[in-house]
Formats: sequence, structure tokens, C-alpha cells
Amino acid sequence: MSKGFDDVRKYVEKLNSLSMALTMFEWDMETMAPKGSFKRTSKIVGALSEEYFECLISSGLSQAILNAKSSGDCNDIEKRIIEKLEKDIDKKRKIPSKEYREFAELTSAAGSKWHEAKLKNDFSIYAPYLEKVVNYTKKFAGYAKKDEECLYDVLLKDYESNFTVKDLDEFFGELKKAVIPLVKNISRRRTACADRLFKGKFDVIRQKEFNRYIAEYIGFDFCRGVMAESEHPFTTSIHKDDVRITTHYYEDNLESAIFSTIHETGHGLFEQGNSDEIAMTPLAGGSCAVHESQSRMYENMIGRSKAFWVPLYEKFQKTFPDNWGNIDLDEFILAINKVEPSLIRTESDELTYSLHIIIRYEIEKALIDGDIMVKDLPKLWNKKYEEYLGVNPDNDAEGVLQDIHWSQGSIGYFPFYAVGNAIAAQIYAAMDKRIDVEKCLETRRMDKIREYLRKNVHQYGMSKTAEEFLVDITGEGFNPKYYIEYLTKKFTELFIR
Ligand code: ZN
Repeated sequence: MSKGFDDVRKYVEKLNSLSMALTMFEWDMETMAPKGSFKRTSKIVGALSEEYFECLISSGLSQAILNAKSSGDCNDIEKRIIEKLEKDIDKKRKIPSKEYREFAELTSAAGSKWHEAKLKNDFSIYAPYLEKVVNYTKKFAGYAKKDEECLYDVLLKDYESNFTVKDLDEFFGELKKAVIPLVKNISRRRTACADRLFKGKFDVIRQKEFNRYIAEYIGFDFCRGVMAESEHPFTTSIHKDDVRITTHYYEDNLESAIFSTIHETGHGLFEQGNSDEIAMTPLAGGSCAVHESQSRMYENMIGRSKAFWVPLYEKFQKTFPDNWGNIDLDEFILAINKVEPSLIRTESDELTYSLHIIIRYEIEKALIDGDIMVKDLPKLWNKKYEEYLGVNPDNDAEGVLQDIHWSQGSIGYFPFYAVGNAIAAQIYAAMDKRIDVEKCLETRRMDKIREYLRKNVHQYGMSKTAEEFLVDITGEGFNPKYYIEYLTKKFTELFIR
């Protein structure tokens, strides 16, 4: 530890303690806390958030940063921590605190209006709130704008540096060209006859045992992590030795929990694999696209491959013998990879998933920099679903009202789900050159995969950008070619050839 960094470290420790406390409340509210507690608890959360905000923009921290920089003896990690802090401070300082508070209140109201609109299937309840969220978002992006070409570029930068509208237009253009015809070719065929076997009645206790077994098998360390249940599965961490994942069990759907568990385990391994050096600093965890690359690599590239299930399938059959006892592994693999254009993003299959993201990307971009209005959204949404996926929502609840993101002010986040998929494919290709991934899977050597990812990705957390990770691991920048090749090869072999 460098001496010049000492004062900054004190602030980092305070910020970190506050953010850990906030994470703990967030976790509790999503999992165990009684519903009646929310009103009072949100006051505590509000007070802690304010304390965090004050500490971040305090003159003391800014002075400590100046001193550390002029001391000239910070190491690389300390320099990155300072960069990250400066970015956060800069962003917060530019927004007048009155507007910041108004926006926080607005998004909390917009969230509940979104809920209500979805339940009542009435977009007009939500529209005026969304319009305000969009206006604030544009205003804040205007404050932060430096040399970016458009406001949406500013929003993208918030989540992942180095990705602009220009890059994403190119990526999504190529993806559409490859995926849309592929989906059309497959849709005409029967993709999986065993799919219906995931529906039925499945004992939740058995599901729990099997899901825990899978998480442990992949390498989630239960001495430094827990798995609970929540409405929407997610991962959070207090620090690298207290990582928390959730899944959701449905008595009538066996598939959902298994792949949610594998996905969240992928996130969990990232958090548990952070180095000691970055633990409990602003660099802990991982940036959104890189984090998503790890969960999706485990969920889809690994978790839906035949090699992964070779050593596990017998146990699966024995756990759920009524439905799966007599079905062979190949049928099972077809079933877990079925392709079916659908209306709901979170239930979509691996191949059509990116099309759901592209639709959101195109709409968000036009909302921020184009000339579409909030009131136009339902019509535009339905038109794009018809065009890209050939399906038509019956109502707005299964159309434009399905995602919570925009109500929270998360505009610019969606594209990184798809970018994460492409990063996963690029890293997987590089990993496969060093260790034979399929062979590792077939021989139960999950440790080799975990070790490779820990060494090349997880240990660094947020100390590298997505682009830096890719250059270091694969020798080139972001290249969607690997993802497109992977999808084309996999789905052609499974369903077309
Ligand atoms: Zn995820």
C-alpha cells in the first residue's frame, strides 16, 4: 500500500462500509424482509444513501485524491481506484442536488406506476412518468456530455466505456443479418419434442437439492456464499467472501430454476474470484458487460452444451424419473436448446434473446436522440416484434410494459446484455485454445475452467475495461464474429442440418 494513498483509503473504507450496508438492505428487501417493513426501512436506506453521496462529494475526499496524485507513489490499482472515484464524483457534482433528489423520488414513483400499469395492462398510467424519466435522463446526460457524439453515447459510457452508438449499430447490424434468417429456418421445423417434459409437477425440495448440487458442481464456494430465493433471480455481494445468489423455483416448470441457477452461479464465481487487492474497493465486482459475459457463458455456452450434461444427466434423470427417466441425453439437449420466437425477453431462448435486446436498443436510442415520443412506444414496440420475431403481443403487459428498467432510469443498459453474450463467445474461443473446454466438461474438470476464468477475468474485477480484457485475453478488441459463428454453428448442427 502506498503512503500517498493512505487518506484516500480511509474514504474508500467509509464509502465501502456504507455501500455494503445498502447492499445488505437491498438483499434483505428482495429475499427475507416482510413486505410491511418497506416503508420504514426505505427511510434508513434513504439516510444511508445520502450519507454515501455526501462522503463521495466531500471536499475532504477531493483533497485526499489531489494529495495522492501529487505524491506520485500510487500503484496501478490505486490509480484505477482514483480514476473510478473521480468519474463518480464528476458525475454526481454536475447534477444539482435538488434535481438528483427529484429524480430519485420520480424513479421510485415511476417504478410503482409501472407495476400498476402492467397489472392493469394500461400504458397510459405509466406514460407520463416515463416521459419525465426520459426528460431527466436527457438533461443529466447533457450535463455530463463532453466530446461524445450524442446523448445516448453518454448514457452508454455510464455502463461500459469504449462502446458507442457507432459500434453498437455495427454489432447489431451484423447480428440481425445472421440471426433473423437462422430463426426463420428453424421455426419451420420441430425444434424439440421433449420440451413439454419440463412442464408438470416437480417437487420443490428436490429441485432445491439439485440446484444446490449444480451450483456447487460448477464451483460456487458455499463457505463464502449463499443461495436463496427471490422473485427475479439476481446476484449481489457484500464482499468477495460473502457472495449471494438467488434463484426462483416453480413447481410447474423444472427448466427455469436450473438455468437461472447456472446463470447466477456464473455471476457469483466472478465476485468470489476477485483478487484480495481489489476486494472492498470501488473496483470490486465487475462491469456490466463483462459480468454478463460470465453468467451467460456458464448458462448457455457451457450449461446448454451436451458435454456439460454428460457427467450430470444420470443424476438429473434419477432426481426427476417420472418425466425424464426414459428420455435419452440427445433429446434432453434438444429440449434445453429449443428455439421459439416469443414475446417475453426473460423467457426467451438463447438464439432469439439478442433480437429482444436489439428492439429495446433501437427504441431507447430513438427516445434519447431521435424523434419518437413516449406515447408512440406501444405501436413501435409491436411493429418491431412483428418484423424481427414474427410475433404480436395481445396487450401492452406482454409488450412494452414487460421490463422494469426504464422506470428506474436505466436507459442504455439493455445493449450490454447482448454485448455480454458476444464477449463470452470471444473469451470462450480463446479459453478453448488453452484448455480443451469440452474435454474438461465431459471429465468433470470444472475447476480448470473456473481457474482459467479466475486468472484471466475474475481477479481483475473492474480494474480493466471490457476492451482491455479482450485485448489481453484474445489479442484483439471486441469482435462479434465469434458470437455469430458460435450461434450459426450450434443451431445449424442442432436443428437445421
Ligand atoms: Zn445476469
